[in-house]
Amino acid sequence: MTTVPNLILNNGVEIPQLGFGVFLVEPEETRRAVITALEVGYRHIDTAQMYGNEKEVGQAIAEFGLDRSEVFVTSKLNNNKIGFDAALTAVDGSLDALGIEQIDLFLIHWPLATVRDFVETWKAFERIYADGRARAIGVSNFQVAHLERLLGETDIVPAVNQIEAHPYLTQEGLLAFNAEHGIATEAWSPLGRGAVLEDPVIVKIAKEHNKSPAQAVLRWHVQHGNIIFPKSVTPARVRENFEIFDFELSTDEMDQVSGLNRDQRIGPDPDTFAMIPG
Ligand code: NAD
Repeated sequence: MTTVPNLILNNGVEIPQLGFGVFLVEPEETRRAVITALEVGYRHIDTAQMYGNEKEVGQAIAEFGLDRSEVFVTSKLNNNKIGFDAALTAVDGSLDALGIEQIDLFLIHWPLATVRDFVETWKAFERIYADGRARAIGVSNFQVAHLERLLGETDIVPAVNQIEAHPYLTQEGLLAFNAEHGIATEAWSPLGRGAVLEDPVIVKIAKEHNKSPAQAVLRWHVQHGNIIFPKSVTPARVRENFEIFDFELSTDEMDQVSGLNRDQRIGPDPDTFAMIPG
């Protein structure tokens, strides 16, 4: 039976280091996908208001029947709900959709620094935390300059920064900044949405451990201390992505994977991204 380690966030809250992500999972497919993940043993689900599937995530968790405290649920504020008042109201939308009274982790999805001042939104997050509507609060896609502003102008240090990170975008500077300030790093698109899986270095390391390339990459993240939630709707892959705690990469293998960095993004650049969905 695989046991997923828990990491401890800067406010003492525990989070399973491996979870299941549901970006681009259609609402009709989400219930089944989340139930499959819970059956495999995942106890951490990463969703967002923007994904349009919070309701189905909540239904799957309720239907599966575990005690609420046994599943860690993250959601993220939609980009069109930034600002103090809008954010304060929007969190209730997530709680309603998920059918829960407290969210485990609530994140500002994007800094959108060219659109509006995220400090104002973060102050709403501090209120949400103080009210007990979230057990932990954090940010996503924040760069060092964004974090420096938050650290300088607000009271609560984000518990996590969820950023794009994989072997082609290792983000060493940002990871070091997060660690230095007690902010846990969550790596989104941990598999580079599949782009890194045919890399010969990764294929070779995986073979040496009798593991798949996806498992080798996920293991690299885990040994880096990253929190990850790979996405798949294929049950065999959901299981495969869970079986990463029974082998270990050597220091040399870790360095080889890190050496693949090309600073290559799949997603948008957080410094310029300004999309506000309707
Ligand atoms: P990912 O790196 O998890 O890749 C997912 C894709 O990889 C799948 O669609 C599948 O095609 C493939 N895959 C998965 N498991 C595999 C396996 N074992 N073998 C071969 N191929 C496999 O990318 P993602 O879905 O973009 O990211 C994961 C999660 O991160 C999302 O579901 C979401 O929760 C989160 N996310 C957050 C943000 C953000 O802005 N905060 C952005 C994107 C994603």
